Amino acid sequence: MPDKDELLYTRKNIFDTMSEEDMTVAEAYCEEYKRFLDNGKTERECVKEAIKLAENNGFVPLERGKKLTPGAKVYMDIGGKAVILAVIGKKSLDQGVNIAAAHVDAPRLDLKQVPLYEDGEMAFFKTHYYGGVKKYQWVALPLALHGVVIKKDGTAVDIVIGKDEKDPIFMITDLLPHLSKDQEKKTLGEAFSGESLNILIGSRPAGEEKDKDRLKLAVMKILNERYGITEEDFISAEIEAVPAMCARDVGFDRSMIGAYGHDNRSCSFAALKAILELDTPAKTAVCVLVDKEEIGSDGVSGMQSAVFEDFMEELCEPHGVKLRDCFKASFCLSGDVCNAFDPNFPEVSEKQNNAKLSYGIGILKYTGAHGKCGSSDASAEVVAKLRALFEAKGVVWQITTLGKVDQGGGGTVAKFMANRNIATIDAGVPVLSMHAPYEIVSKLDCYMTYKGIQAIYEI
Ligand code: MN
Ligand code: MN
Repeated sequence: MPDKDELLYTRKNIFDTMSEEDMTVAEAYCEEYKRFLDNGKTERECVKEAIKLAENNGFVPLERGKKLTPGAKVYMDIGGKAVILAVIGKKSLDQGVNIAAAHVDAPRLDLKQVPLYEDGEMAFFKTHYYGGVKKYQWVALPLALHGVVIKKDGTAVDIVIGKDEKDPIFMITDLLPHLSKDQEKKTLGEAFSGESLNILIGSRPAGEEKDKDRLKLAVMKILNERYGITEEDFISAEIEAVPAMCARDVGFDRSMIGAYGHDNRSCSFAALKAILELDTPAKTAVCVLVDKEEIGSDGVSGMQSAVFEDFMEELCEPHGVKLRDCFKASFCLSGDVCNAFDPNFPEVSEKQNNAKLSYGIGILKYTGAHGKCGSSDASAEVVAKLRALFEAKGVVWQITTLGKVDQGGGGTVAKFMANRNIATIDAGVPVLSMHAPYEIVSKLDCYMTYKGIQAIYEI
């Protein structure tokens, strides 16, 4: 008869089992992760950083029609907004590949295509939010502008203002409490409208009092001087207003990290670092860092894109392996964050089935909403395979769901992989204040997610 510990499913806080030595390793991992966060505030910056790190580790761009041999390290840059990396394994591709897929986009405010206007002798940018944001969280918050302007001749101008401590930052104003009588009667969702999220960018006019548009003109003069752009160039620009704050340790004990974009750079970085460190795995390892997850995974750089088939076919074809044979033998860990139980909001979680902070990588059998709708719902066989693997490799894990039944819901890229006939399951870092401009994670959960993805690449 097994003892009580075996008979009952018990979860343990990693702090109660992890050695001091391992904690030092986890701490070093998190320092690297924080640097990645600070260098990657947008999907483009994350992809740029990932490619830089990959090239430093011997990865080269994938060449068409080239037969790759075990140990080869290749990547495909998808328009600077997504990247797929692979390390070729010893086994034939018809035995499948091991995939870690994670998204690098994050909720934010995008500038509209005609963003500039003036009102009350102040200059503003109009925005359109991207992904699931709680609008009230984005006012009275230091914002930085990161992005790219593509000029008519095709040249790209990178824009980063607000990252450097000496840079100015930008803000959306909020109403003073003294005059908020009416505002306070509104619901959380109604109090701030999407059209009111206008970013204050200047207050010093150009020219003389009688001139028109002098606030707008003053801003464009600065931008033209610094970047050589005109107002029309915003039409072909992707400029994102993101929180200006850097990643910081949270708590007296420094056990947590506060930052913008843990969803989902905590899993992206884990997947990236794990593949960069591979030598020659048994099966080919594939790391997919995609864009557009927060708005449904559509488009060329999203997980539904045929670009994934394109990449995989380039690996398979020269070896005479059918893509469908490769897919059906493959395994994918969809690395995405989950919600950590928050004692300030216990009513939304069912404790027994909700991830806890510092209890390890959270495995989700399913996501979705209203009766698991929109979820690929990994099979029990796939869950069994993953828990056995994690146990064997010393990865601390926990099973979790996204809150109480019918409390809400969400999705990830998992279903888009599963729909390709690839055995797929979600797992990732539990997060507090998910989708807020500054989210919180446990350092040890981040480290366990990295160890978990390492284990996937060793199947
Ligand atoms: Mn996510
Ligand atoms: Mn998200």
